[in-house]
Amino acid sequence: MITLPGLIDPHVHLREPGATHKEDWDTGTQAALAGGFTTVLAMPNTRPPVTDAPSLDLALSAARQKARCDYAQFLGAGPDNTQAPAELAWRTAGLKMYLDQTYGPLRLDEMSVWMAHFSNWPRELPIVAHAESRTLAAVMLMAALFDRPLHVAHVSLREEILLIRAAKERGLKITCEVAPHHLFLTQEDIPHLGGGRGEVRPRLASAADRHALWDNLAVIDCFATDHAPHTLAEKDGDNPPPGFPGLETALPLLLTAVAEKRLSLDDLVLRMSTNPRRIFNLPEQPETWVEVDPQEKWEIRARDSYTRCAWTPFEGWQVRGRVRRVVLRGETVMQDGKVLASPGSGRNIRA
Ligand SMILES: [Zn+2]
Repeated sequence: MITLPGLIDPHVHLREPGATHKEDWDTGTQAALAGGFTTVLAMPNTRPPVTDAPSLDLALSAARQKARCDYAQFLGAGPDNTQAPAELAWRTAGLKMYLDQTYGPLRLDEMSVWMAHFSNWPRELPIVAHAESRTLAAVMLMAALFDRPLHVAHVSLREEILLIRAAKERGLKITCEVAPHHLFLTQEDIPHLGGGRGEVRPRLASAADRHALWDNLAVIDCFATDHAPHTLAEKDGDNPPPGFPGLETALPLLLTAVAEKRLSLDDLVLRMSTNPRRIFNLPEQPETWVEVDPQEKWEIRARDSYTRCAWTPFEGWQVRGRVRRVVLRGETVMQDGKVLASPGSGRNIRA
């Protein structure tokens, strides 16, 4: 048995308010605990999107009643909240800027709006950008001009990781995350997954892109799941929404990579706990740890998962390494696949 610190997932979509048939704060945080995460940072592209005090209150009141692990909620950058009051900002995980098309209505096209957010958002709080390819180059330049840290969500392409590497070599304040599905799947898996089940943003990329991510592990600050549940009826329907669930498969996939010596355990802990805690300025969780059997071999099966969406792109994968127990603030909150934490026991780390 090995002991890891409580893991932090800085990128989850818990779908509440507005789409609780896909997930809610209860099922999503159960999935988090089952996957070894004791803190999750929730994205704002809900319905309504979290862009002001009333919508933030709506999300946080659901979280307060239901969350079983610790959490914070991002604010979505919109055209109308560039002057978001500082007290609102301090109640959030940080600001999320959607600069490329994704699920939900939050895309920002006007660079004057980006600039207003960069100049007004409190410097001590994170800004996270969904920015792919050339958009990434644009937002990195803007972050440099405003001399403020920028965290880049779900890097998936060779050109992106090389750009971030170059920026880091020049001393720019850039950090980034990669999602496990971009480390383990490529566009060649889409036919096997079946049409809509392969839809995700950023899209699954080429084998060369995936290799470039592994070859530039040192450039990757965090592994973040981008847990984005949709039901199978939606994924298999006419207009499949993009997104994969990931909270319960991330750690076993990465532990399997550790067993295969593609990654060290220290590499994993750095990217799933130490770095996200530093980048997102999260408090320590006392008496909190995750016990893992690194040898246990098992098969990923959606029917055994907690996420309400009830499917996984990794169905049938043989993995090595299983979470046996999670302790949060001295309480056993998950043991042998059973979540023991009660709804509402999770804490808002920005409260
Ligand atoms: Zn996302």
